[in-house]
Amino acid sequence: MKTVESINFKDKKALIRVDFNVPLNDHLEITDDSRMMAALPTIEKILNDGGAVVLISHLGRPKGEHADRFSMKHLVEHLSKITKRTVHFAPDCIDDNAMSISSTLPMGDILLLENLRFHSEETSGDVAFAKRLAEHGDVYVNDAFGTAHRAHASTSVIAQFFDEKCFGYLMAKEVENAQKLMKNPERPFTAIVGGAKVSDKILIIQNLLNIADHIIIGGGMAYTFKKAMGGDIGNSLFEEERVDTCKEILAEADKRGVQIHLPVDSVVADQFSNDASSSTSDSDQIGAGWMGLDIGPRAIEEFSEVLNASKTILWNGPMGVFEMSSFENGTKSIAQAVANATKAGAFSLIGGGDSSAAVKKFGYTNSVSYVSTGGGALLEYFEGKILPGIAAIEG
Ligand code: AMP
Repeated sequence: MKTVESINFKDKKALIRVDFNVPLNDHLEITDDSRMMAALPTIEKILNDGGAVVLISHLGRPKGEHADRFSMKHLVEHLSKITKRTVHFAPDCIDDNAMSISSTLPMGDILLLENLRFHSEETSGDVAFAKRLAEHGDVYVNDAFGTAHRAHASTSVIAQFFDEKCFGYLMAKEVENAQKLMKNPERPFTAIVGGAKVSDKILIIQNLLNIADHIIIGGGMAYTFKKAMGGDIGNSLFEEERVDTCKEILAEADKRGVQIHLPVDSVVADQFSNDASSSTSDSDQIGAGWMGLDIGPRAIEEFSEVLNASKTILWNGPMGVFEMSSFENGTKSIAQAVANATKAGAFSLIGGGDSSAAVKKFGYTNSVSYVSTGGGALLEYFEGKILPGIAAIEG
């Protein structure tokens, strides 16, 4: 992989696609700057070489129109604080003013351009827009793994206008870690797939049947599998139109010798609320009016045993409604089991917004091998798709 490491940026202007899609509160203050911090190593390497940096990103979903709430101007002060450099701001990403600021940008300085998605041409992948954006820099750097699965102007179309292009450190780290699982993972390889719906995770499960030894399925999606196997699931989440898919996945796993683990028991509740009455039930004998909102103690024990014996672990999606304290135990215990396995030498990768949030919430971020910043991008990678943001640089 070609990264910024292999280029000397002295007197060069780098146009970096970053993922500065940070959460802002009602006062338009940044509530979590981890995405900005994650891009710092790449920015610093270029500036320390004696280069200049032009940063491009999207923020929120402004749908092709200027919206003050999604303006990059809210990030300028914090950016200059964390980089300790002069940060210039252009209130449009491609107008003459922006072009003029980047053409006279002193080496050592940073220029942050306004939200790319104020132009609908960004998401439509418009070639003329990408060409104009490309005029801002001598070298194109992509450090935005979170948008690598999008064929947008700034993430893939733009690369054709540069002779010199490469990955930033964050993007390279993400791809290297994901590749560790896809190419020759140490075995046994266990994938944990959870979350609400089977329909969101079908493609990843189907592709994992090609590479994993064990697939642990938890969360709301487990109940459609249970029902497909003839169980009673009460009011638990159920996708009728996915019953056949579940049956096909189970049959295919059997054929390939991949072991699928479903929760034998569940924490069931009489309503979708933290204060609901709850008890434990076999997952295929859930009474009418009750719903499974977390995996039960026997499931935790069984899943933990599988994880304990694993050498490679991928985790996407929570085991239950972890946002509610009454139903967080399954997800928390699995995070603990992944941490234990990691301590014993396994490589563990956590990806997808909710699993990363859960691992963070329960304090295990530093006890696993890698927490990916990419939600959709990571999912698509493990679905076996080619990510446009990666292909544009690798050619
Ligand atoms: P996803 O975005 O598909 O990974 O789904 C994450 C969401 O699934 C979280 O908000 C969880 O609260 C929810 N979830 C997990 N388990 C269940 C369950 N048993 N019933 C309903 N929702 C669930």
